[in-house]
Amino acid sequence: MKQTKQIAVGGVKVGGGAPVAVQSMTNTDTRDADATLAQIEALAGAGCHIVRCAVPDMQAAEALRTICAKSPIPVVADIHFDYRLALASIEVGVQKIRLNPGNIGGADRVHEVVRAAKARRIPIRIGVNSGSVEKEILARFGGPTPEAMVESALYHVKLLNDCNFDDICISIKSSSVPDTMRAYLLAHEQTDYPLHLGVTEAGTEYMGTVKSAAGIGGLLALGVGDTIRVSLTDDPVKEIYAANAILKAVGRNDDGINVVSCPTCGRTRIDLIGIAKEVEQRCASIHGKKLKVAVMGCAVNGPGEAREADLGIAGGAGEGLIFRKGEIVRKVPQDELVDALMEEIERS
Ligand code: SF4
Repeated sequence: MKQTKQIAVGGVKVGGGAPVAVQSMTNTDTRDADATLAQIEALAGAGCHIVRCAVPDMQAAEALRTICAKSPIPVVADIHFDYRLALASIEVGVQKIRLNPGNIGGADRVHEVVRAAKARRIPIRIGVNSGSVEKEILARFGGPTPEAMVESALYHVKLLNDCNFDDICISIKSSSVPDTMRAYLLAHEQTDYPLHLGVTEAGTEYMGTVKSAAGIGGLLALGVGDTIRVSLTDDPVKEIYAANAILKAVGRNDDGINVVSCPTCGRTRIDLIGIAKEVEQRCASIHGKKLKVAVMGCAVNGPGEAREADLGIAGGAGEGLIFRKGEIVRKVPQDELVDALMEEIERS
């Protein structure tokens, strides 16, 4: 796995082998500091490490003063086009800015933003997506191809490098999963800067999670990516649940309980779907334990199929077995199965 350069977003390290940081973006009006802080608290509680806030005007930049002072996690200012908003956000204490230096109106302004970012030691994320590629690059590549998006990102990188600045992170997002993956793989080959992964405009909860799992999860499984943001047209807290599930699925977050469950079949004689959902829900808040828990429908095949699990349930007719490392430890009625399993988890 290629080691990327490490940057620091407040106290959160990104890249260089640091654990993959989970990000989200508030969807409150940033000018409403109380509402934005309430959402940041909820995101942090769900496991978000870094949060981004839109900065559409000076009032929003000023509200970031309160937000940054009270936020439990580092705050990133999302800036488009207006370098004065970047300067104001840096001044009030954000720990990173997302800005494309080629879009802020000239080299003098890039120098000014870089000077301010350097003085506060805060990184800049270059965020390219299929809609932001420069006209000249689009013409050369015939559209927002993955190659065009990478070229655009490297153009913005060069503008910062020309100011002797390399505290940089890059994102290259498309709403197409294959294009997103290809772009990140190319960027991974061509640069050492940490990569912020995401599939943009991924959609509502179900499809957005599927697209993000395919794109972000696929890249992470290949060893590409340093921080991730799942984009959902929904409550941002759901982005954190999805992001953490993706990290778990690709083995990049082994904190907590990894619940596996069988798909049920004609041998199932208990309400395994209900039991599996309850186990998953009750295990979601357990941290600091690394356990694999199997929820299996069948007493005959269950323990055998899930022998590598630390603990598990194997259903029978109206009752079930609790097993540990493939060995049966208890037989309990169906309605006591989940409680009995949770007791065993607590004991582990
Ligand atoms: Fe069927 Fe048993 Fe396998 Fe579940 S564990 S799918 S019930 S055979």
